[in-house]
Amino acid sequence: MKNIALLGATGSIGKSTLSVIDLHRDQFNVFALSANTNWQQMVKLCNKYQPNFAVMRDEASALELQNALDNDTQVLSGVEALCKIAAHEQTDYVMAAIVGAAGMASSLAAAKAGKRIMLANKESLVLAGDIFIEAVKNSGAELIPVDSEHSAIFQCLQSGKSGLSKIQLTASGGPFLHTPISGLQSITPDEACAHPNWSMGRKISVDSATMMNKGLEVIEAYYLFALKPEQIDVVIHPQSIVHSSVYYDDGSTLSQLGNPDMRSVISYAMAYPNRISAGVAPLDLANNPPLEFYTPDLDKFACLGLAFDALKQGGSAMGTINAANEIAVDAFLNHQIKFLDIPNIIEKTLSQTQHTTLCDLDAIIANDQSAREIATQIVKQHA
Ligand code: NAD
Ligand code: MG
Repeated sequence: MKNIALLGATGSIGKSTLSVIDLHRDQFNVFALSANTNWQQMVKLCNKYQPNFAVMRDEASALELQNALDNDTQVLSGVEALCKIAAHEQTDYVMAAIVGAAGMASSLAAAKAGKRIMLANKESLVLAGDIFIEAVKNSGAELIPVDSEHSAIFQCLQSGKSGLSKIQLTASGGPFLHTPISGLQSITPDEACAHPNWSMGRKISVDSATMMNKGLEVIEAYYLFALKPEQIDVVIHPQSIVHSSVYYDDGSTLSQLGNPDMRSVISYAMAYPNRISAGVAPLDLANNPPLEFYTPDLDKFACLGLAFDALKQGGSAMGTINAANEIAVDAFLNHQIKFLDIPNIIEKTLSQTQHTTLCDLDAIIANDQSAREIATQIVKQHA
């Protein structure tokens, strides 16, 4: 029996993880659950799964949850509590599924404590890639990606990296793949969040529409697979059936395919190196629409180009674009700025932030904070 600490239990990945656990309650135990402030949803989850711990973002929602529960679940709040359950000696696996930089500290705590980290929170690697990977190496933690593209590459690389020439991340192109740039100015948050293939949280849905999600994934891949930036390629594949590919010197290409459903990715991370059922329908290639592939248009999807540039620049640039993106996406979702302002705000933030090499976590957090402040000012000028 493996004890799972599920961080971000009320989100899209959190729900999919619980649905995989439901199929295998004899193998996996919900040891801890966490959420932002939705204590009502957490009451339901705590009653169903009876975890040892439940962690809310703040004291007020923790108190609401505590008052509504009549079981033995210990209710805690705040980032320190998240880190505590991520590193708890009884925790075997940590599902890191909090969205944004808010998930970094707890993912890192799991890495330092030598856990199996099922990493959905790609922002952890974008912000603190070097420190994160070093912590994994030092502690002997297992780092298993919970991102469809990176899981695909991880699966393709099971026999090693010998003769690897490049990896290719697939991108759906989001809901505006065929919309001309002129049509993007008036996009609403709901239109941006209506992803054609994947059902996801609102932040990552907007990131998919701008292709910043793919940009963050390029950086994620750089750290996960220890590659050179020029070994990472992106191709648009609107059907999201080929989840990513690995190219070898001998002319061979390996890809992983499947229906677009994160439960496959989550179950793989939970069962690795084995495979278990995930409740996902098998692929039916003969009856599938034709698979298409295109080169991304970097004028239209400027965020993707910005992420590649930040990776090549290294140091604080990656944390800066991530912070500016979080502020800009939030402002867009709150109707303060237009869709096409998002890349402008990121670019301006990058040009107004001091570029440094970040050698420790304090420096990473300080850079994240100052980039957020600068981006917030720039948002006000756009609003
Ligand atoms: P979501 O918005 O649906 O869920 C986010 C979860 O984090 C919720 O449980 C929420 O309560 C919690 N949370 C939010 N802010 C928090 C805070 N400040 N402190 C503590 N908890 C907080 O997001 P999601 O789509 O499930 O994505 C989660 C992560 O997984 C993101 O990093 C995303 O990039 C990554 N990811 C998601 C998908 C997907 O299909 N949804 C695919 C690949 C990677
Ligand atoms: Mg992905």
